[in-house]
Amino acid sequence: MVAAIARAQPVAVLKSKAETPDLRGLPSVDRLLKAAEDQGLFHRFGRSLTADAVRAAIDQARTDLRKGGGLTGETALLDQVHQLLADWTSASLRPVINASGVILHTNLGRAPLSREAIAAVQAAAGGYSNLEFDLAGGRRGARESHVESLIVRLTGAEAALVVNNNAGAILLALAALASRRKVVIARTQLIEIGGGFRIPDVLKESGARLVEIGTTNRVHLDDYRSAIAAEGPALVLSAHHSNFRIVGFTAEPGREEIAALAHENGIASIEDLGSGTLLDTARYGLAHEPTVQESLAAGVDLATFSGDKLLGGPQAGILAGRADLLKRIRKHPLARALRTDKLTLAALQATLLHYLKGEAETVVPVWQMIAAPLAGLEIRARGWLEALGTGELIAGESTVGGGSLPGEALPTLLLALTAASADRTAQRLRLTDPPVIARTQDGRILLDPRTVLPDQDERLISILKEIG
Ligand SMILES: *Cc1c(COP(=O)(O)O)cnc(C)c1O
Repeated sequence: MVAAIARAQPVAVLKSKAETPDLRGLPSVDRLLKAAEDQGLFHRFGRSLTADAVRAAIDQARTDLRKGGGLTGETALLDQVHQLLADWTSASLRPVINASGVILHTNLGRAPLSREAIAAVQAAAGGYSNLEFDLAGGRRGARESHVESLIVRLTGAEAALVVNNNAGAILLALAALASRRKVVIARTQLIEIGGGFRIPDVLKESGARLVEIGTTNRVHLDDYRSAIAAEGPALVLSAHHSNFRIVGFTAEPGREEIAALAHENGIASIEDLGSGTLLDTARYGLAHEPTVQESLAAGVDLATFSGDKLLGGPQAGILAGRADLLKRIRKHPLARALRTDKLTLAALQATLLHYLKGEAETVVPVWQMIAAPLAGLEIRARGWLEALGTGELIAGESTVGGGSLPGEALPTLLLALTAASADRTAQRLRLTDPPVIARTQDGRILLDPRTVLPDQDERLISILKEIG
């Protein structure tokens, strides 16, 4: 401890003796530590962490003195120790109120889980489970068994496997099926999605070799045909455009044609669906997102998609398709490295059960938000406005986000609040408890009821009142 302090002594900052601040005015570490103990800090935070905070507070006071600041008294130092300990021990990952109107906000954790999925996570987390145990036979079981039959039933796949996320699902599929072989993909689909996920990079990491075909805006079935003939690839990969849209002079063959061509040549066709919805987005005034069922029915041999995008479940990557391909994939060492944990499987099983029972639209939060009628949103926004007594309701748009449905929007009603500085107010809202994430536009704060969970309304209003 003493050595650490000695190292922190001033070096060459001081020009003359006359300017040397009197560091002796500060309390010693031991004395401050004793005062902290007397205040019960050892009991609350442990001796070692409290000692770290005491040293940090004293170091800061020394620095302040050397910079020509005043002497920090013992009471102020103890306050700082308290503050440091509170900061260090507070959870940094915490719930926020999403008033941004972006339903699948990747920065805000994508899909909130249904009540049943949360209960399933809690039950699996707090005790033991039959995760890999066949209860009837008393033998070892398979962890995917809890969700595989549900995925099969819902999608029409022969088999399914769940891994950590969709990026992992694609990596695994390519590594298992195309390592050291070629993979044909259209230039229109060489996408980069958020977080630095680039299809060409994933291909490279899997050990597969990329064969690009077509141009940026157009690719034809003949491009696939010639590439298959010339390159002898292991498979054809298609990827959802995710977060961008090509408009204008564009062309891409349908998945049926690509799959049929692949089969004529004895190779597999794989599709990265991205979001991978089980429900038809067109029923909610949005563009049609290809469903997993459609992809497989069109002859795609293996579809991959995320668990926490339009499925509305936990982070996961789902591979659904031909049983023989999945058998090879399961045997690859990466399958073990990317396996899902029991909490994910518990949440995913509960989420898939909602689809099986035909209740996803009414109980899965992502679908509740997508399906929320404008009239209901207006009632909530009006309720906020009346409780606040200030602001204005304006027509606006919510978006789905999560790399699905780019450019598509759902009409909503926004509460618009005028602020001296919208950016400053937005920042203050981000620093409340819980933090509120809002949009700003034309110097105003915009709050969208679509993505605020109904049980957060009251807290949101009291925060808005406090902020003023
Ligand atoms: C989101 C997305 C991914 C990555 O999925 P994660 O579950 O986030 O790993 C891959 N491909 C497409 C097309 C996507 O939209």
